[in-house]
Amino acid sequence: MHPELEAHLSHCRNLPSPPGVALRIIELAQNPDVVMSTAADTIGLDPALSARMLRIANSPLYASRRRVENLSQALTLLGLNATLTLALGFSLSQGTRSGQQPAAQERIWRRSVIAALASRLLGQYTGQRKLEELMLAGLLQDIGMLALLQLYPDDYAALTELASDNTSLVLAERAWLGCDHAAAGNWMARQWNLPVLLQEAIGESESSASTTPFNACVAVSGYVADIWLTHQPESTQLAHGVAAEQAATRLGMDYADFLALTEQMVKTLPEVCAMFDVPASSPARIEALLEQARELLVVRNLREIQDAARARKDADESESRARRLAEEVRRDPLTGVYNRGQLETVLEREFDTATRHGWPLSIAFIDLDDFKQVNDRWGHLVGDEVLRNFAKTLVKHVRGSDIVARYGGEEFLVVLPGIAEDAAAHVVRRILSEVSQVAMAQVDGVPLHITFSAGLATQGALDQFQDVDSLLRAADDALYGAKRDGRNRVAVGAISG
Ligand code: GH3
Ligand code: MG
Ligand code: MG
Repeated sequence: MHPELEAHLSHCRNLPSPPGVALRIIELAQNPDVVMSTAADTIGLDPALSARMLRIANSPLYASRRRVENLSQALTLLGLNATLTLALGFSLSQGTRSGQQPAAQERIWRRSVIAALASRLLGQYTGQRKLEELMLAGLLQDIGMLALLQLYPDDYAALTELASDNTSLVLAERAWLGCDHAAAGNWMARQWNLPVLLQEAIGESESSASTTPFNACVAVSGYVADIWLTHQPESTQLAHGVAAEQAATRLGMDYADFLALTEQMVKTLPEVCAMFDVPASSPARIEALLEQARELLVVRNLREIQDAARARKDADESESRARRLAEEVRRDPLTGVYNRGQLETVLEREFDTATRHGWPLSIAFIDLDDFKQVNDRWGHLVGDEVLRNFAKTLVKHVRGSDIVARYGGEEFLVVLPGIAEDAAAHVVRRILSEVSQVAMAQVDGVPLHITFSAGLATQGALDQFQDVDSLLRAADDALYGAKRDGRNRVAVGAISG
């Protein structure tokens, strides 16, 4: 960073600083011996922060079927590391909102929150693991702007107002200060003693090349945020194109996936904005843009299909590798079965087909019994192994045309197209008796057995559900009944009795 700016920053008395809770969380996050209860105590001190943690645990970002009611359930669902990371993001974004130029500050935080979600989704689509950290890095990538705003309130506020987009802002900063807000942010992150991973991602957030996929997600997330921050339809379209291009070159994402990501953003952003107290923003012109882009994609797909037919013979290795990669994105990394996102796509399709042709379609919600005890007694690694083996057993016992997906945590969904209620109940009961007899893990040479409860619902001759959600709800209700009646059993959907 420019030495003169550094000197100014270090003498500036009113730079944004982390609130007490955030300082404590940073300390905890860097201490390997911390346990969940300490994190709960720290977060519990701040009621607003606790409320935000509950809200995020119940948000669509986390696939949990049951409502999380209290802080301790939220922490269990999220895990220690994710809890600390998310709590840090919340308390920094709330605690640093004071000082000069509040309107400009709000603009910066709004951009940050959009980028935070984008960064997380980019990580998810490209198969990365540290999703919470990605979200936090996305959120904090512009803290350098807050610092510059405190240092030069009027000038910098005017500069952010004048710059037509982030790229021109960065160029203006470099011309004016000899460095950009990413460098200032890196300096701030070091002062705040944030983890090195974050310091580096912030420092690289405005570079034209990234040294790691993590940093690439953060840098590209800024471009994605720009789609939401433009004011004219043409510039929205341009920003979308630029972001897609960045995602392709830096992360290898194809356009169809980028479009899916944008759609996901439109769906999830209102909730995420509400969680961080910034104005919700999914302007109508983004929907319009997506509509158009999807049409283009269909045309492009048609052309691709024709091309592929011509060149089928020389379909090469790299193509199948790319397809394998795309397939991986659809799968849950722990168990290898479909993830929730892919399930939603496939289930919607099967539901339409079944309803249109009057074919039966059964689904089974499966939830492992007392799984928390497995974790509590034998540890998470054994828990993970049980989940893996359980998923394997499920796959083994259904047909190739059936679909197995992890709905979240220890909950799975099996989709049985063309199978009526009785036959489906028979299949699932057979699986239950098989599962309870086969060891799902060995602990010190002792076999570990588990059971599950399942709820079934069928779209068929008798029951016509309006939509996938109602079908899912019926299966969920049945599952609840199976749990209530003592677990280790299969219950059939309420309507069909
Ligand atoms: P019930 O019979 O009512 O379903 O009780 P349960 O203990 O199975 O249900 P609960 O929902 O209370 O607990 C589910 C547990 O699953 C809590 C959570 O820690 C654990 N879990 C969720 N995802 C994973 C995972 O990926 N790995 C491991 N090891 N455990 C997980
Ligand atoms: Mg369970
Ligand atoms: Mg459960």
